[in-house]
Amino acid sequence: MRKSTGAGRFAPSPTSELHLGNIRTAILAWLFARSTDRRFLLRIEDLDRVRAGAEHAQIRELLASGLSWDGSVTRQSDSSHRYATAIESLNRDGLLYECFCTRRDIAEASSAPHAVPGIYPGACRGLGDAERARLRLARPPALRLKADVGTWTVADEILGEYTGPVDDLVIRRNDGVPSYNLAVVIDDAAQGVDQVVRGDDLLSSSPRQAYLGQLLGLPAPRYAHVPLAVNAQGQRLAKRDGAVTLEDLASKGLGALRVRDIILGSLGLPAGSLAAALRAFDPAQLPREPWIVTATTLFSTGTPSVTPNR
Ligand code: GLU
Repeated sequence: MRKSTGAGRFAPSPTSELHLGNIRTAILAWLFARSTDRRFLLRIEDLDRVRAGAEHAQIRELLASGLSWDGSVTRQSDSSHRYATAIESLNRDGLLYECFCTRRDIAEASSAPHAVPGIYPGACRGLGDAERARLRLARPPALRLKADVGTWTVADEILGEYTGPVDDLVIRRNDGVPSYNLAVVIDDAAQGVDQVVRGDDLLSSSPRQAYLGQLLGLPAPRYAHVPLAVNAQGQRLAKRDGAVTLEDLASKGLGALRVRDIILGSLGLPAGSLAAALRAFDPAQLPREPWIVTATTLFSTGTPSVTPNR
């Protein structure tokens, strides 16, 4: 019998095969969920770009790593009705406005002297009806949230309290697709996810998402933003770094379970089985620095072959 009714999740975008960094995040999400008696869910975030076959490959790779999840795999594309309902409710409450800015407009506005980079300066918030009607002829609008705070604070298992900027985030893109920020908030709440474990490249999205959730009357999840896998230059691991996907590594003689052991080693956890890693798992002991992955990390001999980089 599980003690908690909450859930953790792994939510990959089906844009490519998973690489070492993604699998490491998935293993961490599993460890966080299981060590707190939560359910563990797999959600495919397919609102945006989708590469044919990627979802299938990702599921195969997660299974090959020994991970399992509760219930069936869910997809954002099955939740359109929920996003539409949330957009209607925000709109009814007068919390949305049409934005006609192009990427270029936004880039220019946010490089202006008093602008904060990466923060939408609210250019379209004050448009009058006539101007909006005129602009609609040229370009379909996105819908943005009228945020009435400048920052929001979230609780992170690794980083403690994190306060970051909140701006008038996009709720529905100008192609009519709900934004990632909206979808994630709605899906997590609908699935009972109260523990969000993901790469720390998404840390700056969390205050926006938590603020939006609060406006929608949804409970705030706890977060754990985990360090990314990077190459020797400190850049986020990517295809250009050679064999970084499970398939490429397998073709070089490193099977999925061996890769998992290397990942567990990088986390300072015992190799051999996820059950053993779970017994030893302590969030307070996790490395705080990015995991530097080089050919030596992966192909030196001996078991385990890596020293935790902390
Ligand atoms: N789908 C996102 C990604 O693959 C992750 C979103 C999340 O975990 O909140 O980067």
